[in-house]
Amino acid sequence: MARADTLARARELDRPDLAYLVRFPAADGMRETDLSWAQIARDTAWITDRLRGHGLTAGERAVLTASGFEGFWCHAMIGALRSLRVTYGIAEAMGWDHRRTSVFHRELRPQAMIGLSAETLEGLSGTADIAQMFRQTRLLLARPAAVPVLRGAGVPAFLISAVGPALALECPERSGAHVNAAEWRVGERDGQLSVAAGEGRGSALPETPLGIAGRVITARCACGSEDPRVLFAQADQLSSARS
Ligand SMILES: [Zn+2]
Repeated sequence: MARADTLARARELDRPDLAYLVRFPAADGMRETDLSWAQIARDTAWITDRLRGHGLTAGERAVLTASGFEGFWCHAMIGALRSLRVTYGIAEAMGWDHRRTSVFHRELRPQAMIGLSAETLEGLSGTADIAQMFRQTRLLLARPAAVPVLRGAGVPAFLISAVGPALALECPERSGAHVNAAEWRVGERDGQLSVAAGEGRGSALPETPLGIAGRVITARCACGSEDPRVLFAQADQLSSARS
């Protein structure tokens, strides 16, 4: 139970600008970068627009599958769902929690599944027909390794992925996952993706090779966005991209 003196102390606490220290795998090992509350607020606004572009609206429902260490993008994703007034449930993206995903999917009957992993799909496929299960789910945002599994089962999935500390989200055009150009610069060298803080980010992440095979499309997307798009070699997208 909260005591008056505890609350009085809490009232005096500073709220530091730093929200997260984001650790992410890069080509030469783990790297760190700061994430501030102001950056999260901008990321939230950007994701909100992306989800709105997929037609997600108030009163609809979503299931988010993510891992605890992914708070750096999940926090903004949850903020976006809340601002759209979308009801959501959260399950762990690791395979052992696929039953929770299954229960949320059955009980919430969500219009959107966000962050589906290949591990979750593998767990689900032991007890369910994936194509049957997701036939009525309008928006499936899946991770790079899960996208070909879903598409192979005849389920049209869109791509969502962390790109280092940035988030990439595919639009309805399904021709690569957009990265917010106001905050990040994504690049490609020798078939490998890199990321750096953009002018608006207000942090100092230099160009960082990520050791992820993929490519970047900078041409304006048919959805109207100028945000660059990333394609991952592991997803079956290099051949299906329409750019
Ligand atoms: Zn687009």
